[in-house]
Amino acid sequence: MCLKDGHGRRHDYLRISVTDRCNLRCVYCMGEEGIEQTSHENILSYEEILKVVTAGAELGISKIRITGGEPLARKELVSLIGKISSVPGITDLAMTTNGTLLPRYAEALKKAGLDRVNISLDTLQADKYQKITRCGKLEDTMRGIEYALQYGLEPVKINTVLMKGINDDEVIDFLQLSREKPLHIRFIEYMQIGDHDRGYSSHYLPLSFVENAAKKAGLPLTPVPLPGGAGPAESYSIPGGKGTIGLIHPISKHFCDSCNRLRLTAEGSLKACLYWQDEKPVRPVLDDKAALQKLFREVLGGKPIEHQMAADGNCGSITPGTMRGMSKTGG
Ligand code: SAM
Repeated sequence: MCLKDGHGRRHDYLRISVTDRCNLRCVYCMGEEGIEQTSHENILSYEEILKVVTAGAELGISKIRITGGEPLARKELVSLIGKISSVPGITDLAMTTNGTLLPRYAEALKKAGLDRVNISLDTLQADKYQKITRCGKLEDTMRGIEYALQYGLEPVKINTVLMKGINDDEVIDFLQLSREKPLHIRFIEYMQIGDHDRGYSSHYLPLSFVENAAKKAGLPLTPVPLPGGAGPAESYSIPGGKGTIGLIHPISKHFCDSCNRLRLTAEGSLKACLYWQDEKPVRPVLDDKAALQKLFREVLGGKPIEHQMAADGNCGSITPGTMRGMSKTGG
């Protein structure tokens, strides 16, 4: 079975936001006071999520990423991981997390069937980490990374959003980290998603900045196959590196033509593109698998050819993009 959109792109990947709540308040993701939270009864239950996964798997979805908000902030997430990992057809189960709660859960997550994690880390400096996350401690995420490695949630990928004037002075430090540890550092271009991030264009930097910084520091980037298979990152090694460097440029070199993703929001809407507003609620059809599968096809049938995020923040001049912040849609 194979799910295709109206442009012939094959879709086998579903990202699921299990909560819009987070224990951090990253400046590029949500406002200082957090977000207007969805009440618990409006968030999909684990049983409901499982129905969507099962219906999707029968259509050809084989990869699942659990995200949020902070997924580990939701109660009993390990039980959801156990259930999803046993759905026939699901061959890759990953999670994006800020890592702070991994010391508590890494072992149980691995045993329940989680294959791997992406851990968000935008700085290696404790005071800056506190400023970017507004309330977090660098040492908690660094400890989470160690637990992920210890329990084999590998390849362990590090998501680093590159921001001018904030962490562009740390590119070489991150390259050195991938040299010393088997970590796959993925620089991501800052995207304007939702309406919270005023001042966007003054912090956006294209990832050619990383390539130039590496060259200047005598650490040339050599192309290598992607750790963990296909994806939007261009992957590189540096001399003597135990890990790799990934460059994900949704703005300067977008990869819409190979997009294979669908998203399920915490409130239960299927979205075909992170950027556009279009989404359809799954709740009305959850108890009718055929109708749920039809909804998957409808959502994909309407998937636009590409997003309209722009470096200057003037996105979607004709039709506006989503007003949902990243924590609500799931990154
Ligand atoms: N709480 C988890 C975490 O911190 O990884 C998962 C949710 S977070 C929304 C998922 C990913 O989205 C993170 O790696 C984060 O860096 C990324 N992200 C959030 N807002 C972004 C933005 N405006 N531009 C680029 N990446 C963004």
